[in-house]
Amino acid sequence: MIPIQMVDLKRQYQKIKPQVDAAIQDVIDNTSFIHGKQEQDFARNLEQYLGVKKVIPCANGTDALQIALMALDLQPGDEVITPSFTFIATAEVIALLRLKPVFVDVDEDTFCLDIQQVKAAITSKTKAIIPVHLFGQSAEMESLMQLAEEHHLYVVEDNAQAIGGHYTFSNGVTQKTGTIGHIGCTSFFPSKNLGCYGDGGALTTNDEALGNKIRMIANHGQSKKYYHDMVGCNSRLDSLQAAILNVKLKYLDEYIVARRKAAARYTDAFKNISGLKTPFSSGNTLHVFHQYTLLVRDGKRDALHDYLSQKNIPSMIYYPVPAHHQKMFEGVSDIPAHLTVTDSIKNEVLSLPMHTELDEEQLAYITSAVLEFFS
Ligand SMILES: *Cc1c(COP(=O)(O)O)cnc(C)c1O
Repeated sequence: MIPIQMVDLKRQYQKIKPQVDAAIQDVIDNTSFIHGKQEQDFARNLEQYLGVKKVIPCANGTDALQIALMALDLQPGDEVITPSFTFIATAEVIALLRLKPVFVDVDEDTFCLDIQQVKAAITSKTKAIIPVHLFGQSAEMESLMQLAEEHHLYVVEDNAQAIGGHYTFSNGVTQKTGTIGHIGCTSFFPSKNLGCYGDGGALTTNDEALGNKIRMIANHGQSKKYYHDMVGCNSRLDSLQAAILNVKLKYLDEYIVARRKAAARYTDAFKNISGLKTPFSSGNTLHVFHQYTLLVRDGKRDALHDYLSQKNIPSMIYYPVPAHHQKMFEGVSDIPAHLTVTDSIKNEVLSLPMHTELDEEQLAYITSAVLEFFS
């Protein structure tokens, strides 16, 4: 059996090696390493794929979130609501810009924002909400957008884990995640669903004016060469990464199918284990399974993790410490006392190997190990 990894980027590369190698060589031959043709091509290709007006590439997903908040003209002390149960970057950029992160709980089924808690957390200082489409599942966007509209709030989607996923509204309209809020932010970190071979990220928006502003902010606030209208930053997707992404974007839908197939295999195998909660599948979202995350009940999570590890099956805890318990927010954000779901699932989450190259032999080995543990 091929050794099992959380993510197998090498075997994925081997299947597209000739195209990736040629794309890289082409960049080197043309020496247009920054703001080259590949970056523009990739932005246009991703716009088409997502069905969004503007894609602005940048250096990484964290920068995308920071630039998004910079584009909204928020004032120090303004409040931004976000789930505590997320990768730290989402909340970190809020504090970095001297805004106040307001942490809310997640829904135990979706691992995404609990809309009732968002509603309860809105004050006169609230300016924006950052839903995180965690593990590849869309947040409940219809009620969130309605709530945001009622209170005149911006919605910045953290789409780092869900690119290619979608959400269907009650009127039947389906939109890709990252194109529903005012701004979407994504990451091309190598292990993400659309990963490059280094760092990369992008912002997405259907608002042309916002798109132009984002482009300026990501480029030193520059309107034309050496004329700087606002304080921005330096955040670019280099041509090598863009060239690789142009190749990989063509395979994204195939990659999603492979991930969903592996997820279905896991879920089917675990359906009779009462101490496990398998990922929730909602009728109106396409879950793209950045992670396949179980809830292991009855305090058995760490024992299962160790058991799998003895069988050379990696598994990971995403995330062991929610944002509201991180030291970095001491004195920056209030510690909410009511994040009961977040505080309990942090001890139950366990993510199994999930990538595009899992084969039947590996899946059979992993599922039987989990079944053995519970038998
Ligand atoms: C990966 C990730 C980010 C940050 O992306 P980088 O490219 O690593 O900066 C932000 N939010 C979430 C939810 C992520 O998973």
